[in-house]
Amino acid sequence: MSFEGLELSESVLRAVREEGYELATPIQKAAIPPLMAGRDLVGCAQTGTGKTAAFALPTLHRLSSGASRPREQGRKVRCLVLAPTRELASQIGESFRAYGRFTGLRHSVIFGGVGQHPQVKAIRQGVDILVATPGRLLDLMNQGYVTLDRVEVLILDEADQMLDMGFIHDLRRIVARVPKQRQTLLFSATMPPEIRRLADEWLHQPESVSVAPQSTTVEKISQSVYFVEKREKADLLARYLAEQGARRTLVFTRTKHGADKLVKNLTRVGIRAQAIHGNKSQNARQHALAQFRGQHPPILVATDIASRGLDIDGVSHVVNFDLPLSPEIYVHRIGRTGRAGAEGIAVTFCDREERGMLREIERITRQKIPVAGGDVGGDRGERSDRVERGGHQQDDRRRHFSDSRHGASRQADNRQGASRQGSSRRHASQGQSQGGGGGGGGYPHTKKFGGQRSQGQRRFSRA
Ligand code: AMP
Repeated sequence: MSFEGLELSESVLRAVREEGYELATPIQKAAIPPLMAGRDLVGCAQTGTGKTAAFALPTLHRLSSGASRPREQGRKVRCLVLAPTRELASQIGESFRAYGRFTGLRHSVIFGGVGQHPQVKAIRQGVDILVATPGRLLDLMNQGYVTLDRVEVLILDEADQMLDMGFIHDLRRIVARVPKQRQTLLFSATMPPEIRRLADEWLHQPESVSVAPQSTTVEKISQSVYFVEKREKADLLARYLAEQGARRTLVFTRTKHGADKLVKNLTRVGIRAQAIHGNKSQNARQHALAQFRGQHPPILVATDIASRGLDIDGVSHVVNFDLPLSPEIYVHRIGRTGRAGAEGIAVTFCDREERGMLREIERITRQKIPVAGGDVGGDRGERSDRVERGGHQQDDRRRHFSDSRHGASRQADNRQGASRQGSSRRHASQGQSQGGGGGGGGYPHTKKFGGQRSQGQRRFSRA
């Protein structure tokens, strides 16, 4: 379906054309017509499906057409978008800038972790669309810099993550200050009962749209798992990166501390790496992202909170250095690769304690993740069972590792050369030539990296 049939105004359509979009994505096809008709909407969709345009285009249409178009003076916020993280808020702001560039509407993005002065200044100059993380918004509201009494459209994006991050009380306070007469949109990657309850409370007879069940999205991603002792993970990662010639690799750790430590370990063996997590300053996060998007990306080691919702093209590999705390997060993580129809590779390093979560992931995604290799001594019964279940795919994946008695730094050198030609295709084709790997799919034991991940961290911390 083309955008022409969606009755969007010419100024919006022109921006869509300039973005090079020809066909509406499924979520856009399903969401735009009811939104154009003024309906409330609950959307179950992940980042990567085109959901931002699905809510931004009809909103821009609505705000830029009709008699209520404001004059330069006295512009007030008429659309409020709430998002869980600074990165997602910035991305949404970018989308409004791109899609709204011919509408004459103004937008602004506010989030915590940076000085409030420029944000206050922008708001004082008048904005039509405000994209915000809940904490900073509430802060500025309490200081009297932001009023929401003219809001016509309220959009909650990644609602499940906002709840996970403990924003519910802030959200309630904010929503209470938005006029009841409004259009409300709620997007969420998952639909747990709390989200449904909020939708019942805040939305009026919403249209429900849902796209790409998560398991469908992950199908095009080549997944595998290595069984590995916790203490061997960093070493395994260095060798994996070297052998894969991975082009743009996102590595997930569960904790900020774990991310920093891993970056140190990789750097020590000559692999460029940067961390992105909630303790980093906004500037450091933006800098790391810019480098990651660049021509010669470092390995980006991220915690979930910093990376969910990020839209980065061309991620060739996702490595789950630690298993996530829920299967949904696994799906989000690996969804960073394989975007826009591209193929991607996702590999998981699973230690003994993480096996329960691995099984849970397999249950939710309704697929067995092929075993690539590794051996956790003393638990062979479980492992051989898994290898059998991995079937022939396991044989392919086992080739991730060649015989590598050389140390990690030698491999890091290899990586420099390999990375020029490396691509996800390599994963599929390299196998035959590399046997090795230690018979039972094991990985070679070389020198050890640092110690254990710190335990007992909070599930999430605020961005
Ligand atoms: P989102 O799910 O909003 O993060 O969008 C994911 C990516 O899809 C972004 O890079 C958008 O620029 C892109 N996109 C959104 N809509 C379309 C479309 N109709 N055709 C092609 N690309 C699109």
